[in-house]
Amino acid sequence: MSVVIAKERVDEMKSSRRVLKTLEYTPTKVQKGYTDKTLYINLTDNQVEFKDIPAVVKEKFIGGKGYGLWHLWKGVNADTKWNDPENEIVISPGPIAGITQYPGAGKSLVVSISPITGTVIDSNVGGHFGPLMKFSGFDALEIQGKAEKDVVVFIDGNKGTISIEEAPVETVDSHILAEELTEMYADDEEDKRHISVVSSGQAAEHSYIGLLNFSFYDKRKKAQRLKQAGRGGIGTVFRDKKIKALIVKYKGVKGDSNAPVDVEKIKQVGMKLHKEVHDFDDEQCQMRQVGTANLFETMSDYDLLPVNNFQYGSHKDAAKTGGRAALKKVLQQDEPDGCWFGCSMSCAKSATAYELQTGPYKGQKVVVDGPEYETIAGVGSNCGIFDIDYVLECNFYCDTYGVDTISFGTLTAFAMECFERGVIDKEVTQGLELTFGNKEAAMELLHQMARGDGFGVIAGKGVREMRKLFVREYGADENLLLDIGMESKGLEYSQYVSKESLAQQGGYALTNKGPQHDEAWLIFMDMVNNQIPSFDDKAEALHYFPMFRTWFGLQGLCKLPWNDVEPISNRSVEGPEAAKVPEHVQNYVDLYNAVTGNNIDKQEMILQSERVYNFQKVFNIRLGVVGIEGDRAPYRSMGPVTKEEFLSREDRYDKQMKENIGIDPEGKSLEEKMKITRDFRESQFAQLRDTVYKRRGWTVEGIPKVEHLQNIGMDLPEVLEVVQPYFK
Ligand code: SF4
Repeated sequence: MSVVIAKERVDEMKSSRRVLKTLEYTPTKVQKGYTDKTLYINLTDNQVEFKDIPAVVKEKFIGGKGYGLWHLWKGVNADTKWNDPENEIVISPGPIAGITQYPGAGKSLVVSISPITGTVIDSNVGGHFGPLMKFSGFDALEIQGKAEKDVVVFIDGNKGTISIEEAPVETVDSHILAEELTEMYADDEEDKRHISVVSSGQAAEHSYIGLLNFSFYDKRKKAQRLKQAGRGGIGTVFRDKKIKALIVKYKGVKGDSNAPVDVEKIKQVGMKLHKEVHDFDDEQCQMRQVGTANLFETMSDYDLLPVNNFQYGSHKDAAKTGGRAALKKVLQQDEPDGCWFGCSMSCAKSATAYELQTGPYKGQKVVVDGPEYETIAGVGSNCGIFDIDYVLECNFYCDTYGVDTISFGTLTAFAMECFERGVIDKEVTQGLELTFGNKEAAMELLHQMARGDGFGVIAGKGVREMRKLFVREYGADENLLLDIGMESKGLEYSQYVSKESLAQQGGYALTNKGPQHDEAWLIFMDMVNNQIPSFDDKAEALHYFPMFRTWFGLQGLCKLPWNDVEPISNRSVEGPEAAKVPEHVQNYVDLYNAVTGNNIDKQEMILQSERVYNFQKVFNIRLGVVGIEGDRAPYRSMGPVTKEEFLSREDRYDKQMKENIGIDPEGKSLEEKMKITRDFRESQFAQLRDTVYKRRGWTVEGIPKVEHLQNIGMDLPEVLEVVQPYFK
């Protein structure tokens, strides 16, 4: 149900505005997917600048995440912290973003220095902001500095105006703010479709896990829909800069707005995929009916669903909570939703008219975007909660308060386990009974985060900071907390149990930004289908898939239409090649060439990503994340930490001891068996790490070799300057 904004409220907002800067410009027309322009804004002195993007940057960084990384590199230095004014938020959609003929082509990439990892984070998000910004004349928006008071930035791509305005009265929480600003800037109901708002929420101000909501107007529901750039706390940076919202308005999106060189080719490739979605989605993933949540029950069936802080992998109540039948009851069924025009996969589900049970909006009926798989697993099963209404309530408040559901779920689960093991008590939690399954306590924790009081402020700093505090102040066993605290580089794990998939352990820990499944998701290839048995096989997969997935982030694409529907041709592809979905990879090559007029093949596609991926790795090194410690994984991601965990799968571990390690478990004590298992699994992970580094062209300490950087064409002087000291 939409929030209705009264005319008096709009008048109040308008009259309270103080214009700090306004500028007219002539929007550059998009040519072959690009405008070659960046809009630079410094909020400290309200400087607005239009920058040309050099040809060499276009060639080496492509767009999207690549542009974000390059701008950020130029804006910061080796000592910049997340809350320094020099830190930037860069939003860039990429050259393919904005086409309307192929599913999943409206994404934006957001890049910043993260409060939770202290290094570079990137997040991929739907909603209409990125494409509308490009059609307004900009391939990237680069925001630096800090405002003194809350501001909004408004880009009008039709009139050619940019303004920075103080905005003192608007609500911070996203579900209202997006409605308020859309109402304020739209000429009429129809005009709302031409506006997109980027915002965060009040919990982003008191935590390190703030997210950004990117809106689009849902004409059928007459409501704002919100898609999230969730990971790594970019919403926290946003509010630290005192940005209340970014608004873009552009009317005139057409099938050829991206000015591609071969629109017929794009249509042809698009039609092929639309037909596959139409023909196979019902029998394959049911993305149109339940979205990514279709995975929930399957994960439980394969012992991959995180339960009680990743201790266990399945639960008897999984089907009741996140099963397809349960989801169909709460989700809007008759109207498949796409988060950009032309996405027939339409997985952007929502529950409408959900009546809130808690918090400041209690009793109101609202639209809840999602829930996605990661949310149901994160705030639900991983916290021992199997209640779909709770998931909707928590999902709604996380979004509107501006916090990441994945990090919130994982950090709450960690706090719950610490509470149950006596590491912390009610004195520390200030009265919260944080036991697994206690949904009231979990909800209160979230509300505290939004209000900036109670244990919510401590928890909101994330697993890594909580661990340090519990060790320092409450004498907790650091080794235990290192084992059960599900973070790497400071980022909380996303929601898959990786104990039985060595490749996925690498897919989580051997990443640039931290354990997020959008770099590599290899569990089925590795564990279920056993298609990559050797270390070399796994290392090859941990080279190819992160590079391939990086490519979506360069182009402004959604990953889901790549492999959440499979064409008939894939039935005859064998082995690990099947996981690549070769026909769809060719679709992407065709799309890129048809938009840009370039002529790449599948190899050059990987090379484009490899340049940017290695640049990001060097960026981490520049910011001080060096050596294998930077890729440390908590033992719980590799194996059973506690006796209960071991005993819950004792037969499996005994069998593996005999067959894989060559030791007979007969007569061994539980402690002995746990140690043997741990030593073996940790040595396997170390061997995998060494093999992956080698495959990626890095040293045993994870430093990209100079020769490798030269070979792939990422040998810019400033990049070599960072790595060369390690080779003296
Ligand atoms: S598949 Fe889903 S997330 Fe991806 S673009 Fe389409 S609607 Fe958006």
